[in-house]
Amino acid sequence: MHRFIPLLLLALIASACVSTGDDATELPEVEATTTTSRAQRTTAADERADPTTTAAPDAEPGLAGLDVGDPGGDMSGLTAARLPGSIGDPTFPGIGNVGYDVTRYDVSLDFTGPEMQAQTVVTLTAQIDLEALNLDLVGMDVDEIRVDDEPALFNRDGRELIVRLPNPLTAGQSAEVLVAYHGTPEPIDTGEGLPFNLGFQARTWGNFVASEPIGAATWFPSNDHPQDKAIFAVTMTVPAGQSAIGPGQVVEESQGPDGSTTVRWEAREPMSTYLASIATGEFDVQTEVLDSGLVLRHAVHVDAIRATGDELQTTREMMEAFEEQFGPYPFATYGVLVVPEQLGFALENQTLSLFGTDIMSSPSAQPILAHELAHQWFGNNISPAAWDDIWLNEGFATWAEWWWTERIGGRDMTTVARTVPMDPIKDLTPDTLFDFNIYWRGGLTLEALRREIGDDVFGDILRQWTERYGGGVASTQNFLDLVTEIAGSDASNSVSQWIFSPTMPELPADR
Ligand SMILES: [Zn+2]
Repeated sequence: MHRFIPLLLLALIASACVSTGDDATELPEVEATTTTSRAQRTTAADERADPTTTAAPDAEPGLAGLDVGDPGGDMSGLTAARLPGSIGDPTFPGIGNVGYDVTRYDVSLDFTGPEMQAQTVVTLTAQIDLEALNLDLVGMDVDEIRVDDEPALFNRDGRELIVRLPNPLTAGQSAEVLVAYHGTPEPIDTGEGLPFNLGFQARTWGNFVASEPIGAATWFPSNDHPQDKAIFAVTMTVPAGQSAIGPGQVVEESQGPDGSTTVRWEAREPMSTYLASIATGEFDVQTEVLDSGLVLRHAVHVDAIRATGDELQTTREMMEAFEEQFGPYPFATYGVLVVPEQLGFALENQTLSLFGTDIMSSPSAQPILAHELAHQWFGNNISPAAWDDIWLNEGFATWAEWWWTERIGGRDMTTVARTVPMDPIKDLTPDTLFDFNIYWRGGLTLEALRREIGDDVFGDILRQWTERYGGGVASTQNFLDLVTEIAGSDASNSVSQWIFSPTMPELPADR
């Protein structure tokens, strides 16, 4: 994600700090309200690796909170101990579920009527013996749930959709959970914490989604935590004259007798739920195949074409430069989706980064395009093990943004950045997840490391990072361990200081 802060404003902030000698007062305050310490979290992350130890019946609504007699049917045969708990994310304790691993989502959405008619098939494998399981779903009316084609009883409690399995699953056994639902999906109101509401966004011109971090559940039932990656198929039916844009590539397209179009998109590389993206409306789609076989396809809403200009023409060059620096691009396709409004942010949805006309028409377009492309490696291919590892997304993408900006002859952003003191990256709350320090102190952490160990070893670390953890998730501790392994414990200690120390270290001289 990239909040849209015009470069000029950033420069003003930095120069204000320099000229007044002011300390951190120019920057957003980070309130340390999270009680989970870093050390506790590392232990929790280790435990999560073993699903049999993660069931925490008290962490999630169990049967105690349910009206057993309501329309979900008789759930009385379940004991709370058999309902698995949440993943235990330190920033969002209630989200995600344990006890199973989703391998595939097959989402079908029909936009031709007054309400969205939808069906999602979740293919999952039980990690422990299960009599019931929870999915995350916000809003929407659930019509029916079938598990391996047998009707299942279900109930709802907040964002928990609790499914009683018609036949219990034993550990290792797979099942297909079909959820049929309808309604008008609405985003989650985040109040003051974020510049936008999370999840599905319905507009008069069409629809799009912006889910990071916990909004995917507004449009499909899921295990809505980055840890549980899966492959995706999204089939959309749209009225005549509209396009349906999705993740990955189109594998099937057909016309209905009423002029409607049904398009099936498939993303065959594992994806975290928050990165799944769709859009409908009148889009102009431009496709280009690179020498490597990689398909570039940009979808620009017809009312955003003018604002977009030729900004997307640098994608090929940017892609080639990043592949050289970070290793092969991890997915079969890439492109940018431009919607006809001023979003105030850009978002790195997997294979389809989301932009608005505000950024596209600003001088920040190129740095932010670089930022979201870099996220495809850092954040998307390697996703955060927990949300308080988010500097692994944002710090890396910010560093890549600086690297690209300098490469095309733009200003040396680290010169500006090093003059700005920033809070350490810890004790994150939902409101501080996208704060300035996550981005810049995260980016400077990598720049400091590069200057300390030199370009060659730094390049080795970046490529090893993507090679080792690509397709999965990684934690801050994983990164520190890799730095220790490749560059030694002094380098790793420096990284630690840069992330966690209350006082921001001095940036080493470039050599
Ligand atoms: Zn970002």
